[in-house]
Amino acid sequence: MNHFTVTQPLPDVWHIQDVGQVCFTLIRGEKDTLLFDTGMGFYDVASCVAPYVRGKLHVVFSHAHYDHTCGQHYFAESFVHPDDLNRCRKTVDRRHRALTLKRARARGILEDAYPAEQFVNGTPETVKPLTEMSIDLGGLEVRFLLSPGHTKGSIVAYIEKKSLLLTGDTWNPHTWLFFPECQPLAVYTRTVRHLRNLQAEHVLRSHDASMVSMEQFRAYADGLSEETFSQAEPCPVPPYTHIHTYCCYPEPESKLVFNGDKR
Ligand SMILES: [Zn+2]
Repeated sequence: MNHFTVTQPLPDVWHIQDVGQVCFTLIRGEKDTLLFDTGMGFYDVASCVAPYVRGKLHVVFSHAHYDHTCGQHYFAESFVHPDDLNRCRKTVDRRHRALTLKRARARGILEDAYPAEQFVNGTPETVKPLTEMSIDLGGLEVRFLLSPGHTKGSIVAYIEKKSLLLTGDTWNPHTWLFFPECQPLAVYTRTVRHLRNLQAEHVLRSHDASMVSMEQFRAYADGLSEETFSQAEPCPVPPYTHIHTYCCYPEPESKLVFNGDKR
């Protein structure tokens, strides 16, 4: 069984989807390589990306959530913004991995004989604070931009030379902004409006296997307005029905779900 779907949307850029339908991205320079997120980590992410890696492999997370970070134990070290560090270490500990595994089994995305032990043994201590907000991969600079909203320590990766922006969970076909760790709508709006002006053409997202246009992202940013928010309607999101979630469409193909109590 093939556990990953690998695509190469641009030269030296691979966008990979795992069995949980979560995507992560590999960017290769002349000298070194960056892995931005690791997906849910049920299967060996390191083996999956190995054929494409050149030089040292840097592993950096867009934010602390389990569906992007639980592949961390396949690597000697990984980095997350300091504002998300404690949450990230907790997310990949044994107790949280056991819960994640249980949910994945319920979704039916794992083989019957799946070896649980190799997944629940995370290595939280090897997740470290990201201190450098850019990496030179050899003729290719990647800048990390702090983008508070989905979480406090969310970052995006901007590769100017490739005209490419990696948004993590800051923008997706469905963007979720209702967890307790999410920042208020105004903070998120400020973040997205700031990113809107980056000189990029292409965007890769963490819950979308296809590359999309920066033009669509700009339309989304422009749609983050009081008018859009006032048209939002209640939309329960199981299993989070205890939160007063509201849905709106800042752009026709982009749904934003926020907590109506935290506007
Ligand atoms: Zn997330």
